[in-house]
Amino acid sequence: MCGIIGYIGNRSAAPILMSGLRRLEYRGYDSAGIALVSNGAVRVHKAAGKLFQLEAVLPKRLGGKLGIGHTRWATHGAPSDVNAHPHVSADGSIAVVHNGIVENSPALRARLEAEGVEFASETDTEIIAHLIARQEEQPIEQRVRDALALVQGTYGIAVVDSTRPDCVVIARKGSPVIIGIGDREMFVASDVAALVRHTRQVVHLDDGEVAVVDSRGYRTMTMDARPISKSPATVEWEDDAYERDGHRHFMYKEILDQPEAIDRTLGGRLDRQFHTAHLGGLNLEPGELLDVKRVKLLGCGSAYYAGITGAHLIESLARIPASAEPAAEFRYRNPVIERDTLYIAVSQSGETIDTLMAVQEVRRSGGRVLGIVNVVGSSIAREADGGIYMHAGPEVAVASTKAYTCSLVALALLALQLGRTRDLSPEQGRRLVEAMERLPADIEAALATEPLVKAIALRFAHCTSAFYIGRGAAFPIALEGAQKLKEISYIHAEAYPASELKHGPLALVDSRIPTVAALPHDALLDKSISSMEEVRARSGPVIALTHPGDERIAERADAVIEVPRTEDVLNPVVMAVPLQLFAYHCALALGRHIDQPRNLAKSVTVE
Ligand code: GLU
Repeated sequence: MCGIIGYIGNRSAAPILMSGLRRLEYRGYDSAGIALVSNGAVRVHKAAGKLFQLEAVLPKRLGGKLGIGHTRWATHGAPSDVNAHPHVSADGSIAVVHNGIVENSPALRARLEAEGVEFASETDTEIIAHLIARQEEQPIEQRVRDALALVQGTYGIAVVDSTRPDCVVIARKGSPVIIGIGDREMFVASDVAALVRHTRQVVHLDDGEVAVVDSRGYRTMTMDARPISKSPATVEWEDDAYERDGHRHFMYKEILDQPEAIDRTLGGRLDRQFHTAHLGGLNLEPGELLDVKRVKLLGCGSAYYAGITGAHLIESLARIPASAEPAAEFRYRNPVIERDTLYIAVSQSGETIDTLMAVQEVRRSGGRVLGIVNVVGSSIAREADGGIYMHAGPEVAVASTKAYTCSLVALALLALQLGRTRDLSPEQGRRLVEAMERLPADIEAALATEPLVKAIALRFAHCTSAFYIGRGAAFPIALEGAQKLKEISYIHAEAYPASELKHGPLALVDSRIPTVAALPHDALLDKSISSMEEVRARSGPVIALTHPGDERIAERADAVIEVPRTEDVLNPVVMAVPLQLFAYHCALALGRHIDQPRNLAKSVTVE
């Protein structure tokens, strides 16, 4: 969702800004623009639509060694040329790019209009440009701070001033901004994806911080002008991790990446001697782990579904009551925060605003939060008391695949460690350690179902609706399977615990609506087979996702996808894979925009 890039140095800024914006495209956007400072003036070029539409309006020669750029995901005002960022002050001296929302924009806009300011756009962002321009003649960072003091809401911003061609000013509250350190050149961005081509030394701003960045360095300060020193961190991801490696879609590449990604999540964390896991970043002593009386998992979308599986893993292996809740619901219902509850926030980007706010809510009330995130140094990673990095590598496609399965593996490691500090026997621990070590190979076997899954997808891609069912640990398998299908194929899909079918949805089942049934060979298999029968009795086609070896399923289902059997609690990891491939091939057959599905964005940084 929305992206910021900025450059100051000795090179021509425009190509650097454009290639940075290209790297941010994956987040989803509807318009884009750049502002360049040269010869004492700010020049802005912007266009609704994709980057090639911006390229089409760019002059051949573009001067300026200082500039900012933006990909917008409209919140205030339609995605049009004028509403695209950067926005400039009436005198043309200040240009601003902004991620986030100015919540008090109606009042600020009315106030500025009463003072005679004429607005060019409908955006909330333009207010910031006018507010900065009208501050007294003071250092630019002071003017930015004074303007932001009037703003309520969230922002990551980058500002240039035609009278200060030696710097770019950035500020952050609720939306990330990062400084990238080059060799006598500096970068700013909202996401490391835009920086890794140039540098892997980065500085993350925290909320309430402002920085002045020039070609040789940076100064950071708080909103009330107190200088603070921040040291750079090294980004572990390589530039080429953002390439599609010859595949048509990032999503496909990321599905295939899963055996390696899961290997990285497991890397060095399994203990064969004590049959447990070692998670260094939890910042919890064994005694503190023993004190945990409840676990609450928070996330949005697929991360919430990962949380449901996490709750199941923790209850099964550690016998600690655990439940999951959508982060946005949790934070707005005045939740009871308890000292002996362990809160776990799951987010690929570590920037999901609802999850981040839930983390802040828990910490404000004295609760303890762990983050399970993929992006190192992200907001949730830094605000949580401890956590587990997924190490999935960059996930570029909007629909999560490898980050989803890696978050399940991270949760399985945590559940194992919690279990082994309690009643999980060494023997049970040993079986789990071995099953986790086998996961990359099991995922390879699940990937090998692709030709079959593709054929099934071609058979069903033109249905208008689908049901996904599963019980116990398999229910979140159904939830995530339905989610993938909805996200990228736009086929209506609903997931139910199989036991719920006859309490309502069965009324809809007929020969046109396929049911995808997750049927792991666990204690509930016989019951799930009965549910499958209920669907068949109403002529509903059944696609069974199961393990080899049960004749009853092969005899009854219209199509059968078999994956290796693992420990029951780990089935959701392996069974996610064919459902990702099914959604992918349905979407491909329907000609959908797979990596950037309509209306969706990666890293949801607005509420
Ligand atoms: N609220 C701003 C707008 O609608 C910024 C949106 C964004 O984060 O891209 O222009």
